[in-house]
Amino acid sequence: MNEYKRGEEAFLKAYGRYDIVLEKGDGVYLYDIHGNKYLDFYSGIGVNSFGHGYYPYVEVLKKQLETLMHVSNYFYTPTSIEAAEAVKKATQLDAVFFCNSGAEATEGALKLARKYYYMKNGKADSEMISFDHSFHGRTTGSVRLTGNSHYQEAFGPLMTGIQYATLNDIESVKKLINEKTSAIIVEPIQGEGGVNPCEQSFLKELRRLCDEYDICLILDEVQCGMGRTGTIMTYFQYGILPDIVCLAKGLGAGVPVGAFVANKKYAQAMQPGDHGSTYGGNPFVCTAVQSVFELIEKENILQHVQEISQYLIEQLDDIVEEFDIVEARRGLGLMQGLVFKQDVKPIVKRLLADGVIVVTAGNDVLRMLPPFIIELQHVDEYIKKLRNILNDLK
Ligand SMILES: *Cc1c(COP(=O)(O)O)cnc(C)c1O
Repeated sequence: MNEYKRGEEAFLKAYGRYDIVLEKGDGVYLYDIHGNKYLDFYSGIGVNSFGHGYYPYVEVLKKQLETLMHVSNYFYTPTSIEAAEAVKKATQLDAVFFCNSGAEATEGALKLARKYYYMKNGKADSEMISFDHSFHGRTTGSVRLTGNSHYQEAFGPLMTGIQYATLNDIESVKKLINEKTSAIIVEPIQGEGGVNPCEQSFLKELRRLCDEYDICLILDEVQCGMGRTGTIMTYFQYGILPDIVCLAKGLGAGVPVGAFVANKKYAQAMQPGDHGSTYGGNPFVCTAVQSVFELIEKENILQHVQEISQYLIEQLDDIVEEFDIVEARRGLGLMQGLVFKQDVKPIVKRLLADGVIVVTAGNDVLRMLPPFIIELQHVDEYIKKLRNILNDLK
């Protein structure tokens, strides 16, 4: 039996997987079991910010494995303290809860916003506002916040009191606000939903509305945060701070870790016993978190992301000009989408056959989330292969 078939026999079929089996990674390249080489332009869905096998990230992790791997959250460890301090500094918020994934981060943020509302009103009847085409995870709470009925349909009954507004339409939000609204959750750039950035004025107005009505503004930066858009948090480009931010994906750059981070006002609502996680933020994953922040700073990664993404954006804009089937480019930094006038799956498949891995976002958006360490020649390689395919389709 070939390896792919073995996988098909062994796993629940929760995913539509590609029929290659990946064996190793080196820098911005991945290799399958037959030795075929692929340019990694998706970073395991925006996770491997430093590509594969990055030194000293890997060395630091190896050393931590030999020192201390797990102790539970009944104890602090030097690395967990340092990781939490680094997260606080980077987010300009006040207190961190480490969990294991993005879904858990939004789940935790949801609970914290509800707890604050409960302490204020003495009732557990709060409601929340999310957005169409948003994505916040697959647990029953986070999938309820996800504005895509396709992901929810089969799994009811789900949490009540969640309503969906339209991104960049402030009136659609105002209409939904009432005295029970405890939180508004939004991605500064919707990832899965099609690489849709919030407009400046929209996010600022959300902040203002949340202040006016004492509503918790939760920003889900699981995909767009941690330097991907050229600033450590995307919200700094909007000149606002959230009450709670959700992080995961690039936070550990390959090690499963998530976090929700709150300002003082919301942090005080969390009391011992309210929330917990056995693994959440163990010394091993916190070493990864700490190492990610250290590398971003030491190696001037944000500036590199700004520069290399500018080059990528120019090339992508040329492609939009050149090919009729490409309608637009959307995104910030190294989170980019090309909107097609047709289903993009065949294009993704062709790219794979040509040795490039990218992902889709919805049916018509080709989504690029390359590692931060890509150089000009990798952008050129990608654009050349994409252009060849689009020429064939002409
Ligand atoms: C991926 C993602 C999540 C869910 O993260 P998981 O680690 O898959 O649970 C939540 N929000 C956003 C914006 C994401 O991109």
